[in-house]
Amino acid sequence: MKNGFDIDSNDNALFVTEQCNNNCLMCCQPPSTVDDIEALYQKNLQLLNNAPEELKVLGITGGEPTLLGERLVDLIVEIRKHLPNTAIQLLSNGRKFKDADYAHRVAQAAGEEFFVGVPIHSDYLKDHDAIAGSKHAFEETIYGLYNLASEGVEIELRVVINAMNYKRLPQMAEFIFKNLPFVSWVAFMGMERIGYSVKNQSLIWSEPYEYASYLREAVMILDSWGVPVAIYNIPLCLLPKDCWIFAKRSISDWKIKYSKICDDCSVKKKCCGLFSTSAKEYIGLKSQVGVMDKIRP
Ligand code: SF4
Repeated sequence: MKNGFDIDSNDNALFVTEQCNNNCLMCCQPPSTVDDIEALYQKNLQLLNNAPEELKVLGITGGEPTLLGERLVDLIVEIRKHLPNTAIQLLSNGRKFKDADYAHRVAQAAGEEFFVGVPIHSDYLKDHDAIAGSKHAFEETIYGLYNLASEGVEIELRVVINAMNYKRLPQMAEFIFKNLPFVSWVAFMGMERIGYSVKNQSLIWSEPYEYASYLREAVMILDSWGVPVAIYNIPLCLLPKDCWIFAKRSISDWKIKYSKICDDCSVKKKCCGLFSTSAKEYIGLKSQVGVMDKIRP
């Protein structure tokens, strides 16, 4: 750890606001209405003054970072002053990028080595808006994705799997391939059991054993069309074995934990493990024996 940054980690991030213009049913960090933007901006400037230049990746996260408006452009300019070669990962719902001029200014400030992670909750606008807790979220996010793509920004499309969308994962895969073929990759993500996903669990929570077959079909559709695809936050023992090559060790170092039954598991080193922050473990964890060959080296 050096001046608030861990140069050996890819989990360094600037937290820029707790506010959000969505109100997602499974949000792990429910939004606040307190105006914290300027105070956090000044705090992040101080952090950047001491940022080690060898940092490989720096995240910008919230809340919704684009609620900073021009302050986000200013912040990215500051990052580039201190960290010209660091990759910047912005996590955003993409809605504010419906303004093509804003997408242009953010992309110009960031330059090379800039990518944006954007969630999409469904191929059907009413489902997306219901999950995002906000009307017009779908159309604004789709416009935003097109504007970012026209700026040449790398996009990671994120699908958080939940009870309201898992049955349409294969249709979503087709939608993505046909309508958003410019995304750099697609990540299907298991939910963290914290925040609104606990409060709204009767609506939104789903176990991997319920959605595994739909997830498998969606992953195989995208892979067969040559779209890079990944699975985050779902332990290997809860995935079909032919999906293991897509699974990543995705949980941040500081949040990862393993269950007692993982002690003797032969794939523990390749498995993403579990969220230490989750209120409950997934159902069906099962220690594996001698199956390392299913995992991409
Ligand atoms: S038993 Fe534990 S280490 Fe093994 S695959 Fe399952 S969660 Fe991962």
